[in-house]
Amino acid sequence: MKRITVRVYGPLNDFVPPERRHVAWAHAFEGAASVKDVIEGLGVPHPEVDLIVVNGASVGFEHAVQDADRIAVFPRFQTLDVAAVTRVRQAPPDPIRFVLDVHLGKLARHLRLAGLDAVYRRDATDDELADIARREGRILLTRDRELLKRRIVVHGHFVRETASYRQLEEVLARFGPVALAPFSRCLRCNALLREVPKAAVAAQLGERTRLAFEQFYACSGCERVYWKGSHWTGLTRILDQAVRQAGSP
Ligand SMILES: [Zn+2]
Repeated sequence: MKRITVRVYGPLNDFVPPERRHVAWAHAFEGAASVKDVIEGLGVPHPEVDLIVVNGASVGFEHAVQDADRIAVFPRFQTLDVAAVTRVRQAPPDPIRFVLDVHLGKLARHLRLAGLDAVYRRDATDDELADIARREGRILLTRDRELLKRRIVVHGHFVRETASYRQLEEVLARFGPVALAPFSRCLRCNALLREVPKAAVAAQLGERTRLAFEQFYACSGCERVYWKGSHWTGLTRILDQAVRQAGSP
């Protein structure tokens, strides 16, 4: 029997029962286990973890837990310089890109609105999502902790918030600072937009739109035409708000 002490820090407390939050607790188990297996068994999905300290020294996921180990588990630091220690997580993809589970359609649209590459398919299975994340080096955003615990998922985040505009703030705060490029990506299919001459799309426009707007964009994937109408004003307000909130945690 191995008896260890565990404490998780910051947002990782969301994954443990209330009595284990913000305190060190005792845990006992039989047999051999890596620190990754122990941490995940206690509820914390590995993509959420950035740094593991055992008895005062940083270790990798594969560290074999010993009797009497004191284990501290940290999320990504945004303000502390921890370059000198072993981070268990490799740097996120650059430029940053996402794949979202089937429950996060609205968040996918918000991310695309911000110009971020966000793959979303209403009919994707968990296997497909994990595979896309691994193959394309994408950050898996999900409301499903078990999906996040899959071994092949390297970068991921359990989305805590339920309102989509709050979820956008949450993701920008977690992975920011991120360079945003509003109005560069199709909200429907995620492909890039290109500016097109008004004459090229005039036939597809309603009369009021044709009279009121001069600048138009077309999706390079699905050909949908965009212009900065009243809908756009509402969306940019959501985006501005999210960027402000994310910048001041
Ligand atoms: Zn499109």
